[in-house]
Amino acid sequence: MSPTAFRPSRHATRPIRVSFEFFPPKSEEMEKTLWSSIERLAPLNPSFVSVTYGAGGSTRERTHRTVERILAETALKPAAHLTCVAATREEVDEVVRSYGETGVRHIVALRGDPVAGIGTAYEAHPGGYSQTSDLVAGIKRAGDFEVSVSAYPEKHPEAPSLEADLDALQKKVDAGADRAITQFFFDNDVYLRYLDKVHARGIGIPIVPGILPVLNFRQARNFAERAGASVPDWLGARFEGLENDPETRKLIAAAVAAEQVFDLVDRGVRDFHFYTMNRADLVYAVCHLLGLRPQAGQGAERAAA
Ligand code: FAD
Repeated sequence: MSPTAFRPSRHATRPIRVSFEFFPPKSEEMEKTLWSSIERLAPLNPSFVSVTYGAGGSTRERTHRTVERILAETALKPAAHLTCVAATREEVDEVVRSYGETGVRHIVALRGDPVAGIGTAYEAHPGGYSQTSDLVAGIKRAGDFEVSVSAYPEKHPEAPSLEADLDALQKKVDAGADRAITQFFFDNDVYLRYLDKVHARGIGIPIVPGILPVLNFRQARNFAERAGASVPDWLGARFEGLENDPETRKLIAAAVAAEQVFDLVDRGVRDFHFYTMNRADLVYAVCHLLGLRPQAGQGAERAAA
């Protein structure tokens, strides 16, 4: 990479905006890790921070608690993920209503994975929302929520074709989605080709790239396999031989993620959604390279209180 690639301001006409994704912690120790990550990242003034919803709605309470704590203890804007899986419409609507009461204004609406696991046939709950576009419409009916949805530059594994997948995105947009966040990808050309297809359909909502900094290559490859994301050979080559060398792996991980986001900045992208895996270091470093600096009063003080 040429050194000039590390100058994101070169083409930056609009400011860089970031958002961070976390998952609800399962144990006290994980809770500590999550909160130290939130405290570290909050001063970077993200547009929002999102909290995932476990498969089959398994983290309903924990997602709710985490989102509530973010609202109570930080100045961050939380976005709660919500799926259609294993719940009636009434149950899902009740979750939406209680989010509204708590002060949540942003929901990431998803279908969710089949209850029997990825790779099995999806069966909608008989009394539930049968597809994501219905959930989006339901949330919009329930109140003044901002709604984000997913997008799949390499198509969702269940979609018969990219065109069918784009039809699903179109339906979500028609139902009122305000933004889409992509599944992670490592080949920027794939994302930009996808954007061309989205724009050719007249879809105008932001399609924000989801960036997964790769700290553990083997784990990322497993995620990618389940998510239908391709892993280029060059990525594996960069981590080759570093299985027992976490220090170097971390440096390489930061370089790889920085290279990806700078290339996107060079190609006009300004918004980034980071899959943090509840860890701050790598994401903080990449955001720093993107030119973001801690801002007073943007959550750290309140988060630390
Ligand atoms: P949609 O966008 O509604 O559909 C994806 C594709 O699958 C479309 O092409 C659609 O036509 C096709 N499809 C849908 N249903 C069927 C069907 N029955 N038969 C054939 N094709 C079908 N999962 C969680 O459990 N919790 C989370 O918090 C979570 N957060 C996510 C955040 C992001 C940004 C992304 C990208 C994914 C997230 N997921 C999450 C994963 C997501 O739930 C799964 O990928 C799920 O399989 C699809 O949900 P969706 O809303 O993305 O699907």
